[in-house]
Amino acid sequence: MLVDLHVHAIGHDDRKHNLDNLIPYLEKAKTMNIKEIGFADHDRYFDILNLNLYEDLQKLYPEIKINVGLEVDYFPDKIFEITKIINKFDFDYIIGSVHYIDEWMFDSDKQKQGFLEKDIDEVYKQYLSRIVGAAQTGLFPLIGHLDLIKIFGFKPTKNISETFLEAIKLIQKTGVVIELNTNGWYKPVNELYPSEELIKLCFNYNIPITLSSDAHQAEHVGRDVDKALNLAKKCGYKKIATFANKKVNFVNI
Ligand SMILES: [Zn+2]
Ligand SMILES: [Zn+2]
Repeated sequence: MLVDLHVHAIGHDDRKHNLDNLIPYLEKAKTMNIKEIGFADHDRYFDILNLNLYEDLQKLYPEIKINVGLEVDYFPDKIFEITKIINKFDFDYIIGSVHYIDEWMFDSDKQKQGFLEKDIDEVYKQYLSRIVGAAQTGLFPLIGHLDLIKIFGFKPTKNISETFLEAIKLIQKTGVVIELNTNGWYKPVNELYPSEELIKLCFNYNIPITLSSDAHQAEHVGRDVDKALNLAKKCGYKKIATFANKKVNFVNI
């Protein structure tokens, strides 16, 4: 079964949040054979979202389960604010993502020079400690793009597989789901998030997975999730997680 649980309805606030703009997402999902779709816009746009639209959308497309989520920027010192925003709506699930190390939005094209100014091994360690921190809050049933830090292709100079292993062990204890986010195939790094090596590690530590495109426009809904699913199977996975009825459910793949 194909799902896509990480879709942005308003991209980067470049269009209105209304039914006319949502319908093409569901039309695309239908053609891509997606059975469950999750809208998870960035929390920074919360105030301009009309989350009640999804009830109307669900009535128009009863054959596809629609989940309403939010992609939240994790900052270790903003738990109070994060909790407040999460509680403003009855979300089906929340994605916890790390896009920032302190003030540095490392996945922004405009700020990528930061990778050249910093110790890359240290950057990876800081990133992973935030990912673990996000998982440990218990606020995010789903963790976004596990190794986003590789987005521009800057890789550690030393072997930091121990650091990854430690992170995976700690994540496993929290029970969160991670996503196979196909957007990485369309970034300079040209790799799935996370890498095949990490997916294997996640499988060995029983970390559940789901599938997502991180589409910021309708035409990218479901993009390559079938390819990600095949990779998951190759790495040993037999099930994927979904968030129907506000809890984690597992479906055979
Ligand atoms: Zn993200
Ligand atoms: Zn996203």
